[in-house]
Amino acid sequence: MSSIYIHIPYCKQKCHYCNFFTVISTKTKQDLIDAICKELELKNDYLQSGKINTIYFGGGTPSILDNSDFDKIFKTLYKQFSISDSAEISVEANPDDINASKLKFFKSCGVNRLSIGIQSFNDYILKRLNRIHTSKEAIESVNLAHNFDFHNLNIDLIYGIPGMDIEILKNDIKNFLDLNIPHLSAYSLTVEEKTTLHYLIRNNRYPMPSDSESIEHFNLLIDLLNTHHYEQYEISNFAKNKTYSRHNTNYWKNLPYLGVGPSAHSFNSKTRQWNAYSVSKYIQNIKDNKMYHNIEVLSTDDSYNEYIMLGLRTKWGIDRKIIKENFGKEYSLYFENLLLNPNVRNFVSIDGNVVILNLEGKKYADRVASNLFI
Ligand code: SF4
Repeated sequence: MSSIYIHIPYCKQKCHYCNFFTVISTKTKQDLIDAICKELELKNDYLQSGKINTIYFGGGTPSILDNSDFDKIFKTLYKQFSISDSAEISVEANPDDINASKLKFFKSCGVNRLSIGIQSFNDYILKRLNRIHTSKEAIESVNLAHNFDFHNLNIDLIYGIPGMDIEILKNDIKNFLDLNIPHLSAYSLTVEEKTTLHYLIRNNRYPMPSDSESIEHFNLLIDLLNTHHYEQYEISNFAKNKTYSRHNTNYWKNLPYLGVGPSAHSFNSKTRQWNAYSVSKYIQNIKDNKMYHNIEVLSTDDSYNEYIMLGLRTKWGIDRKIIKENFGKEYSLYFENLLLNPNVRNFVSIDGNVVILNLEGKKYADRVASNLFI
């Protein structure tokens, strides 16, 4: 199982909370598409595990691209890689980019999963986040995706936003449920440095999101989604009828992936490498056949910590057998010892070899994971 991620850095405007690598001007677009295609060619042997099972266009806002841009990338992908007939092919899209002709085009090139960045169905909240679309456009985009038979559909929502009371969140979840969407990614708002949100909070223009409010929102989310038979298969991801994101599941299971485009990361089980966080530098590096901007060789401690951090977030949890087999006796003893610590033990359930977060643990996943780190 292996995956390809393609980073499209363009956005029409910058959302206040966003710290992804994005740029507003698209004047580099043609050079960037050419560089992405060349990078796919240069790295066509990076993944040595046979067929590609998932392809994911993320960003930024991939839906900004023209059909001809996607066409070029898809032609290169199919020429350079062996792509499974049943591959999951996902595109992130913003509601304001979704229209009938784009959806028809996506269908024609095999895109079978859409992830729509909605964040909220409340216009006041959308404005506070500096989102470009309205709630009406968000609802219309989902209905249109249904009309074009995109059954494998995700939307993103954010909770814990200053000014978002519990009724607003209830209404967001209600809208999600009414729209009959099989998958939800719901994230607690985090205030990242160097974002506009950080600036606004520091200057007392917005209040700081409160932890207790975030937990209250998280509890409501879990409660309502459980009632409606959505499975929380990862801390921030809920799916009905096992419509898991196969691409993200590959990340969480630490499987290899190739990332192309500016700022994209790749992982081959032993090393992690990433491209320049600059469109012009990225394009120049690819022109110069420079394979990666940076490479980090993962130590056994790094790999163990990653396994703990990713595994604990999912319903598949941490497998004690895997710790013993992949990392050895010393790591296994270390893990077993830490498992006795009340700061871990009280937040997990153990079923044979498998350790998963319990309901309380899900609220403090990062803290519990760090208590198990080397
Ligand atoms: S659309 Fe997405 S990637 Fe672009 S600025 Fe907003 S949150 Fe960031």
